[in-house]
Amino acid sequence: MLLNTKRLFSMARPKHCRRIASIPESNYFKPRGIPLHMLDEVILTVDEFEAIRLSDLEGLYQEQAAENMGISRQTFGRIIESAHKKVAESLVKGKALKIEGGVIEMASMRKFTCSDCRHSWEIPRGTGRPKDCPSCKNSTIHRAEDDKGYAGGVGRRQDRCHRRIQ
Ligand SMILES: [Zn+2]
Repeated sequence: MLLNTKRLFSMARPKHCRRIASIPESNYFKPRGIPLHMLDEVILTVDEFEAIRLSDLEGLYQEQAAENMGISRQTFGRIIESAHKKVAESLVKGKALKIEGGVIEMASMRKFTCSDCRHSWEIPRGTGRPKDCPSCKNSTIHRAEDDKGYAGGVGRRQDRCHRRIQ
């Protein structure tokens, strides 16, 4: 499901942007069989979502994850701790989980392809060229031909920060 990004972001410029590489594919999760009006909601911000993605799914060390998001390791530590607590609260107490808001900007991305296994993947600009393919570990990698970064809309420029006004 594609999100309406205009709903997630507005044009205010906060001081501390957290760079994110992707927008969540789905932004609302609820326990089955309980009507919405009876559910409590936990709000996970988009930067907290990104912290979970980088740290828990991609398995990055906090230092690397912090660098990807353009923030200090201390700040990353605070974000991931808060994110874990919210996800736990949702799971344990059966609350709905909604992903929205946060002080974020979209990273501009570079796309690479492995000519050996054909795996292709994206990494944020400015984080260095990968040494090998994350799938087969061969070093037969090159910039993807269809690499245009994120074109248009949110995230075309790295120095622009978007924030939701609650
Ligand atoms: Zn490969």
